Amino acid sequence: MTDCDREQAVLDDVPKDLLIGGRWRAAASGRTVPVEDPATGKALCEVADAGPEDGMDALAAAAAAQDGFAAMPPRERGEILRRAYEMITERVDDLALLMTCEMGKPLAESRAEITYAAEFFRWFAEEAVRIDGGYAVSPNGANRFLLMKQPVGVCLLITPWNFPLAMGTRKIGPAVAAGCAMVIKPATQTPLSMLALGAILAEAGLPDGVLNIITTSDAGGVMEPLIRDGRARKLSFTGSTAVGRKLLEQAADKVLRTSMELGGNASFLVFDDADLDAAVDGAMLAKMRNMGEACTAANRFLVQRPVAEAFATKLAERMGALQVGRGTEDGVQVGPLIDAAGLAKVVELVSDAVAHGAGVRIGGEPLGGPGHFYRPTVLTDVPRQSRLNTEEIFGPVAPISVFDDEAEALAAANATEFGLVNYVFTDDVNRALRVCEGLDSGMVGLNTGLVSNPAAPFGGVKQSGLGREGGSVGIEEFLELKYVAVGLRG
Ligand code: NAP
Repeated sequence: MTDCDREQAVLDDVPKDLLIGGRWRAAASGRTVPVEDPATGKALCEVADAGPEDGMDALAAAAAAQDGFAAMPPRERGEILRRAYEMITERVDDLALLMTCEMGKPLAESRAEITYAAEFFRWFAEEAVRIDGGYAVSPNGANRFLLMKQPVGVCLLITPWNFPLAMGTRKIGPAVAAGCAMVIKPATQTPLSMLALGAILAEAGLPDGVLNIITTSDAGGVMEPLIRDGRARKLSFTGSTAVGRKLLEQAADKVLRTSMELGGNASFLVFDDADLDAAVDGAMLAKMRNMGEACTAANRFLVQRPVAEAFATKLAERMGALQVGRGTEDGVQVGPLIDAAGLAKVVELVSDAVAHGAGVRIGGEPLGGPGHFYRPTVLTDVPRQSRLNTEEIFGPVAPISVFDDEAEALAAANATEFGLVNYVFTDDVNRALRVCEGLDSGMVGLNTGLVSNPAAPFGGVKQSGLGREGGSVGIEEFLELKYVAVGLRG
């Protein structure tokens, strides 16, 4: 089979319809929406374009499945996740090709995401049987307290395009483990990985109606009525802060439980006592994973003056050696950005920084030709107030600025409304602890450029979000705590 034939076979294999109540079906309107390859701009295929009535059908299916699923023994729920984990792992090559086609990241990165995504299922398969409760004697000894944890109920899940599978399994895993039925809406640009996952979960034995998948070009029109309906009890969203704010307002109507994984503006601090080569390795990971299109991407490099020049030189060398191209091609390390708007934003932010005095060490322009490619870029002397430092870049651009002391570094790192993650490179343990404590973020990468791990609590503070995904607290987001006051007689 040629590479083209294999791509076509993988695309043909994915369901293109809505998954509602265990049945794949077209949108009620019969409408479809194209999925594009960001490396070529060409349509790969069409998927169902749901309208509000389809959304309501999905919510009704989830509501109908809820009580039965909540009653399923935790071990059985865990075993469904475990089987799905194994199936994803066995099919990693096909799933990676599918992801690269719809999202653009190089095949090696798609494989890494699929492994990461599957690990959420393995982790929550184990958590399903560890949902605990409590028993206590009241302080005056007269009563007993019984604490029980129960599924929160029907969940609405909305995911972004940058990690098409992992952002889904990070929500679906704990929801299944806790016993919640759900409606999930993947991003319009990348629905195929989620549709493939729906088929896998059905094959793994997930009961009909527990997972309903809605693809639509009208996210607001379809999801708002579901959020305001009242049958769903939880909204879990990963995406931009702007959309998250809007959804929080809508969720307030029926006082839904919410989890919000929103935007970031991570600083990457390099102190003069750091191992510089390790810092550059960390920088490559924190900046270039997913072509910079990650909420955790290092957005602002702040480097202490004595090592700033050496750091910039080493980083520019490594960035300049990266091979850019369609993610399916051998040796490619940097794929295209997701769409024309994403590329235009990166162009605009770099122009703004250069107009305000930043120097271009390497890159600084789009690649040209078809697809939305931007050259890996290192900029120095970037003014702190330039848009590159205040907005999420979501592209392969590393802006470097210089600081003189720890207090200045901390103040600069915290000077943002976001608070998802920051990175710190230093070999001084006292400084490391001081800086980690002083950073306003839900996560810190200390001498590492990667924080994501299914066994660790992922999430932000300030306008980067509410709640945590993964780790031992991840399942709590899908559980309600009930307290029973027990009166004792005799
Ligand atoms: P986005 O525009 O906010 O979209 C995210 C999801 O929300 C998509 O499925 C989108 O559907 C949907 N959506 C958009 N408007 C909506 C509305 N009015 N009502 C209901 N749903 C709506 O974000 P994105 O561009 O896909 O993703 C990039 C953003 O996600 C970045 O800010 C990034 O930092 C953030 N992110 C955060 C995390 C984290 O864990 N903190 C992880 C990954 C990404 P359509 O696709 O149809 O527009």
